[in-house]
Amino acid sequence: MKKKTLQTIAVAAGVAGLMALSPVPEDKDLSRRAGDYFEQIRRDPLLLTAFFTAMPKGGDLHHHFSGSMYGETYWQILADHNGWINTSTMDVDTPGTEHALPWKRFAALPRDARFDSLKQAFLRSVSAKDYEASLRPSDEHFFATFGKMSFVASFGMEEGLRELKQRAVSENVQYIETQTGQPDMRIDQPESADWEKSLTGVSLKDSLVVFGILDKVRDSLLAHGAVHWADSCRRRMAEIHRNANVDDSTFILRYQLSASRAGAPLSVYRRLMLAFEVASRDSLVVGVNLVSREDGEVSMRDYQLHMLMFAHLDRNYHGRVPYSLHAGELTAGMVRPEQLRSHITEAVMVAGARRIGHGVDIAYESAWKTVLDHMARKKIPVEINLSSNEFILKVQNELHPVLLYFTHKVPVVISTDDAGVLRTDLTRQYVLLATRYPSLRYADIRQIVSNSIRYSFIRPAALKEEKLRQLDIAFARFEQQLLRYGTGKVIR
Ligand SMILES: [Zn+2]
Repeated sequence: MKKKTLQTIAVAAGVAGLMALSPVPEDKDLSRRAGDYFEQIRRDPLLLTAFFTAMPKGGDLHHHFSGSMYGETYWQILADHNGWINTSTMDVDTPGTEHALPWKRFAALPRDARFDSLKQAFLRSVSAKDYEASLRPSDEHFFATFGKMSFVASFGMEEGLRELKQRAVSENVQYIETQTGQPDMRIDQPESADWEKSLTGVSLKDSLVVFGILDKVRDSLLAHGAVHWADSCRRRMAEIHRNANVDDSTFILRYQLSASRAGAPLSVYRRLMLAFEVASRDSLVVGVNLVSREDGEVSMRDYQLHMLMFAHLDRNYHGRVPYSLHAGELTAGMVRPEQLRSHITEAVMVAGARRIGHGVDIAYESAWKTVLDHMARKKIPVEINLSSNEFILKVQNELHPVLLYFTHKVPVVISTDDAGVLRTDLTRQYVLLATRYPSLRYADIRQIVSNSIRYSFIRPAALKEEKLRQLDIAFARFEQQLLRYGTGKVIR
């Protein structure tokens, strides 16, 4: 009986992907019966997988473009363009440069007897596939993939965007907000050495002094062509987006531009300012973020300074550019205990983040209760990444704070961070959520899905409203199909 149910739900998922949207009146009784069915199958991981594949999941608000592409896509891009692979280290390169052995052209690989094992070794090197903890720490392996593949992701961005869309549509995701980097502005600032020194040495307790220095940096960037840089960045992204042809009537993709928190202070500020400048003028680039490992040497040293940079930019762009901040992607043992006390607090209270990414160390923060109350009152969501936190931080099950946020009425969203590196998808994240946290009911999960559109950075507001309406329609259709394709024994 279970096999039959699994099959019929999968059929329902396929049908849902093909049918055009039309208004469906809300039916509370139908939702209740879908909830009853969900409770009956929630301990069966296969039926749960089929259920969540078919369920509309709204948006994936936290993932990085290069980490979301699967290794197979990178392999295909390099093969299509006859790139290079180092057959010892599995490093790769795009076609432009020349290399000597053990580098080989992709065109030569099909004649290599080791083809299959080379491909598998490559996939392991850029993802958690067959990961062996004894060979390399998981956090190091995860973050190393970005340095290894980001330039190939930029090179094959259109192919990558098409892959992200294909996966989203196949698992009934209506929106994705993907983080991607942008080049630094090549603007010569003669005073930069002095400013860099001042920013590194300044007392961060006096934010007015920091703002004074940042005012000068910003004025100088504007006087030397920052708007021109922003315009060319916008044009390039718009062209790639158009060529990749990802948006249609039921699916859209938008971007957050990010800076690495591992950079030198002025470089971080320049990249952030360029991101703010682009996002303030564009509806494809809808937000800004700060990336790289949070426990890195420079990230920890400059954390407070970065929060002040966001506060400064927020003031200068009159609160018009939303941003999400990775904060609290830390856990006990990763850093000293006293370094777990304030990152989320500062991201929310000082930087003014509109959303928080991860928030894993919240219970270790001195002001945790005040922060949770503030996030609940101001509707500042937390982006929860279960697989990512399990792989990188070893935090899962009851040690994960997802229910702490949920019970404090902080809006929760579920995201992938990142599907390609972790060999996962958004469906899997919902399966983990439902399996690990049985107190969450179907209605709660439906609310979590709705949050992923409501608290997205989609603009204009009318487009967000339209996406919310489409989500309601998709849920009604999903619930109807559960009833129609159910065995009749499970759903009455
Ligand atoms: Zn992230």
